[in-house]
Amino acid sequence: MEQTGVTRRPGRKRIGVLTSGGDAQGMNAAVRAVVRGGIHFGADVFAIYEGYEGMVAGGEGIRQLGWDDVSGILHRGGTVIGTARSVDFREREGRRRAAVNLVRHGIDRLVVIGGDGSLTGADALAQEWPGLLADAVAAGDLEQAAADAHPALMIVGLVGSIDNDMVGTDMTIGADSALHRITEAIDAIASTAASHQRVFVVEVMGRRCGYLAMAAAIAGGADYALIPENPPEAGWEDRMCQALQRGRSLGRRESIVLVAEGARDRSGTEITTDTVKDALKTHMGADARVTILGHVQRGGTPSAFDRSMATMMGYAAVEELLAATPETEAQLIGLRRNRVYRGPLMRLVRRNQEIASMVDTGRYDEAMTARGESFGELHRILKALAEPTPTPVSGEPKRIGILHAGGLAPGMNTVVRSAVRIGHDAGHVMLGIEGGFKGLRHDQVRELELSDVEGWAALGGAELGSRRGVVEPEHLYPISRAIETHRIDGLLVVGGFDAYENVHALIQERDKFPALRIPIVCLPASIDNNLPGTELSVGSDTALGNIVESIDRVKQSAMAARRCFVVETMGRNCGYLGLMSALSSGAEQMYIPEEGISLSGLAYDVSRMRARFAEGRRLFVAVRCEGADEHYTTDVVAKLFEAEGQGVFDVRQVVLGHTQQGGNPSPFDRILATRLAFRAIEELTRQLGAGRSDAQMIGLLKGTLTLTPVAAMDELIDWEERRPVKQWWVKLNRIVRDLADPPGPA
Ligand code: ADP
Repeated sequence: MEQTGVTRRPGRKRIGVLTSGGDAQGMNAAVRAVVRGGIHFGADVFAIYEGYEGMVAGGEGIRQLGWDDVSGILHRGGTVIGTARSVDFREREGRRRAAVNLVRHGIDRLVVIGGDGSLTGADALAQEWPGLLADAVAAGDLEQAAADAHPALMIVGLVGSIDNDMVGTDMTIGADSALHRITEAIDAIASTAASHQRVFVVEVMGRRCGYLAMAAAIAGGADYALIPENPPEAGWEDRMCQALQRGRSLGRRESIVLVAEGARDRSGTEITTDTVKDALKTHMGADARVTILGHVQRGGTPSAFDRSMATMMGYAAVEELLAATPETEAQLIGLRRNRVYRGPLMRLVRRNQEIASMVDTGRYDEAMTARGESFGELHRILKALAEPTPTPVSGEPKRIGILHAGGLAPGMNTVVRSAVRIGHDAGHVMLGIEGGFKGLRHDQVRELELSDVEGWAALGGAELGSRRGVVEPEHLYPISRAIETHRIDGLLVVGGFDAYENVHALIQERDKFPALRIPIVCLPASIDNNLPGTELSVGSDTALGNIVESIDRVKQSAMAARRCFVVETMGRNCGYLGLMSALSSGAEQMYIPEEGISLSGLAYDVSRMRARFAEGRRLFVAVRCEGADEHYTTDVVAKLFEAEGQGVFDVRQVVLGHTQQGGNPSPFDRILATRLAFRAIEELTRQLGAGRSDAQMIGLLKGTLTLTPVAAMDELIDWEERRPVKQWWVKLNRIVRDLADPPGPA
């Protein structure tokens, strides 16, 4: 990588950053955030190339990076500073040379981005640091004064690993992108397999961790998955074949079995794709095709989630490292419950190694528990989908209606499919209501069989149809009459703000219309992510992916000119899509409704832009959320930039429009849809069993599935702005701004 305009000032703290071990998508986003965050906070940042190899070699292996050195890398897969496995670094002599090289550059703070091997290596270096420097002084390789100036090596670790195999973080950098690659592959395989009614056995990565296999099986609607932490009991071959045959009996034309690399049976014998292929032949006479996904999983551009998460982590790493003292314990920066988390690096790495040894020594139950709650939840869901155990029902089965309301959100179909499957298992009759509350008034209600929804897991759009609009007082009677006519005992309302508002209105009328006294669960599905009772809603991850992909393309279209793009995103009065897409795409500016737009702000932005273009910048992206300001529309902002740009740069508007709502749901949205649907049906079943008729909103709060009464909307919602009063993500605006522009006067 080229170096541009680096400045060194005596007395500034010096940070080294390296990527090590297996590469993972999103590592570049982390490196960019470390470099720019470091410069923003007044430090000098050095890249250490090719992992520990560069540290051991020194010379060109360690180079300072400037602000613009990390431009244009956010969207790139792999790692631009290189990664390697270093044999020398495993030896004390290698680490001694590495320590000397760091001290010669004045570096005593290190951000290590890698797997548990790389983090263990970093810890070894930190532990031995004083001894290594003493040896170097004794050998005449280092001045005593230089050693004295750096009494300790301070370390922060970020986990880059596509396997999602680390305690201390709910997601590792790269896992979401790998899941994208796997899900794309499964979707593609499913379509060819369906044409020929074939069975496919697909191997995915994960030597000791089954996250990718489980998550991909849920997201891709695969029939069966085999993972290292939970080897199947004897007789699994029969159960697997039953799962496949059940799928076929529901009208599926394709069958897919996912095998994690490290899958094994209870006796510890490896289960390979060939083992599975042979079992399918013996037990059901199927001639399965095997696909080993291999390095495809590491490839491609990082997902929006990996970019924003790695950016947040890189930024937090710098904050942590600059606040560290020689006495500070090395920290790991991860993501827990949807928030950046800081924990003791080595204790977490050791815990991770314990899990690996639990898997290797057959302590599977312990390994499953140690992997954490959400891992266990995924496993339960997968088991319920693959090996359902229908509940015998005494008496009349309950009838649960599902409808959509509000704008379209990718993942709505996934919710319906999962709800119907789990609802059937619970012994309910599941009813699809077409065309939202209006459809309900007009009796557009039909029973949904498993075969009706079988192919819906991966399908974008909303097969039941969704409708915007508010329930008017005169609709209440026909709605309650339809509930009676169709004997609807419970309702799952899946949608956006309109859906919630309608349910909120309906429950106020229960005294007048007793038919409305049924349990209702609202499930958040809206690309805008502006709903109460949840921090994330189904569809917004897909929309973010669409926006970020469009911004990547827009940027590529402008490589030659000096140009500013004003990109308009959806989101109405909620800036989630605007802010998160700015974070994920590295936009230089963003305008969101929560902050509004002012003329003085625009004037400042133009002067910044002029200064940056004068310095040689070629591109400037401003993301403007559609509801950012009623007067300063996208058109006004673009024209103002054009006028004030005085010919230094030109301006283009890009209104992304409905492409944001289109496409198949992302893996994250499919998994979220499935988790929420499971919990929602469980809640309706519980209420029906207990004779209750509560109206609840299901959601993820601090990463945990939570139910909140619909009545609480009055406190949770700013009705005028139609968004939650508290929005957890707004404070991330600081990161967007700090990483957009180098410090100093505009
Ligand atoms: P990952 O970080 O992806 O787990 P590795 O286990 O291959 O990948 O580790 C990457 C590099 O980290 C190794 O090539 C080696 O240089 C260094 N490393 C790993 N484990 C240790 C250790 N126990 N002591 C010193 N260095 C280590």
